[in-house]
Amino acid sequence: MLRRNNNPEKQNPGTINMAVARKLWIHCNRCFTHFVNRQSIMFLLACKHVICEKCVAANLGRTPSDAPTYKCPMCQQLVRGRQLGNSMPSNLKDMFHPQPWLDGIHHDVVDTFQRANCDHLDKHLKEKSKKLNKEESDCKLAKESTYKHYMEYRRTRHIRKQLEDRARQIKIQARLREEEELRRSSLAKRRKSPDAAASAALQAIVDGAKKSRSRSHSPAVPLDTISQRHRSPIMRPTITSFEQRANHSFDL
Ligand SMILES: [Zn+2]
Ligand SMILES: [Zn+2]
Repeated sequence: MLRRNNNPEKQNPGTINMAVARKLWIHCNRCFTHFVNRQSIMFLLACKHVICEKCVAANLGRTPSDAPTYKCPMCQQLVRGRQLGNSMPSNLKDMFHPQPWLDGIHHDVVDTFQRANCDHLDKHLKEKSKKLNKEESDCKLAKESTYKHYMEYRRTRHIRKQLEDRARQIKIQARLREEEELRRSSLAKRRKSPDAAASAALQAIVDGAKKSRSRSHSPAVPLDTISQRHRSPIMRPTITSFEQRANHSFDL
């Protein structure tokens, strides 16, 4: 017996009773929605395909009594259909009987119908399982690759930090060396400056002494000697002076 509001997920999460388990094979042949989930209305089409309302559109008849037709998305036939439920005609409802042999139903047709649906669902589950395994394998590879890249990133970041530290040290050393060079240069200039000043002062003293000596002994020094010592770019005429010899031979 098919009942509404019999959702196992809502009533007993994690457990499925036998009545529900016997109806798990009933599914939309196109999108694999399970009938027991009660997520959408389902139809049994005359072509023996079970289809949900999301996968097929009804072509309404010209009069209210005219039964709708459906274009089966599985076999493309234009067929009549009946909604799955307790209001189905008895011969159609028997197709979904969980134990047809107990009620004396001629169950060869029913068995064939239910077996075909079970095989269809089983094939789909195997394909899903295969796809899931592939995705799990891809996820594992992606995870390993991501971890490898992450470790590489960490190594690279460590190396970069080391290089930045080294660059900072080199800059500091270069600045210290530059400052040392400036200090030495400045010191050398300071050392050189007093010597030059001292030698200039000494030269000035020597020159001054020579001048004073030449002024005090000017008569004894010949003029030509003076002229030689103090060479001047201006050529001066030679002046002949009197010879100053004492003459005591007569009184003047
Ligand atoms: Zn569907
Ligand atoms: Zn069909």
